[in-house]
Amino acid sequence: MSTNRAKIVLVTGASSGIGRACAELLSAQGHTVYGTSRKPAQAPAGFRMLELDVTRDDSVQAAVATVLAEQGRLDAVVNNAGYALAGPLEETSIEEARHQFDTNFFGVLRVCQAVLPSMRTHRSGLIINVSSLGGVAGLPFQGLYSASKFALEGLTESLRLEVASFGIQVTSLQPGDVYTPITENRVRVRQSGPDSPYRSAFATALGIIEKEERAGAPAGLVARHVLTLLERKQVGVRYT
Ligand code: NDP
Repeated sequence: MSTNRAKIVLVTGASSGIGRACAELLSAQGHTVYGTSRKPAQAPAGFRMLELDVTRDDSVQAAVATVLAEQGRLDAVVNNAGYALAGPLEETSIEEARHQFDTNFFGVLRVCQAVLPSMRTHRSGLIINVSSLGGVAGLPFQGLYSASKFALEGLTESLRLEVASFGIQVTSLQPGDVYTPITENRVRVRQSGPDSPYRSAFATALGIIEKEERAGAPAGLVARHVLTLLERKQVGVRYT
């Protein structure tokens, strides 16, 4: 990937939090940014918003096709879209677990599969997967979230080795607590009601998690890491 020109960048999940901060910072630095949301509202200043649901193949294909039709290439993708499922593992339904993986893991895989043909053709590209500290250490009462990020780490490491010879770089970020709407957007396991034997421990753990998130780093800090990677100061290693 050349270093001396504005990049064409796709940032998934750019309606809030880390994704929005990335889209705003990269566009302010002169890069051409396409952000995405399942329900794009009014276009924010500086970057274009595309509709994208990472759990749907057709939606992913359509968003990537739009960028390629308009720009002819895609230099970088920030796979950021995701949410956090919370609850005792014993009480998590397979359906809830599948949906967590469908967004946080298969969503990234879908986007990677959609962008790789063009990146291979151009023999250039950068894929940044937004993982989590939960992708390197298990988190009690966020077990499926953590598992989805561990899986994402495996995908990242494997893909990095598979596509390096095409000139494509793949890496991941493992942010700790970041202050974003992820706290309000957290999904709780449905079965974990008033009769749950985990009720007290779950409530305590969630209270700590959410307090730490609210005291977390600003999303702009992660965006600065992404900008650093985009401008090739450090790529190809685990970057926390
Ligand atoms: P937010 O809830 O603020 O943002 C999540 C984004 O993901 C939204 O823009 C949302 O867009 C999008 N999204 C959710 N589901 C889908 C879907 N099915 N298809 C497409 N987009 C989707 O959270 P954060 O900014 O905090 O989280 C961003 C990433 O950072 C996540 O992957 C998260 O795991 C990771 N992370 C966050 C940390 C934190 O402490 N905040 C710490 C470590 C990692 P919309 O609803 O508009 O479709």
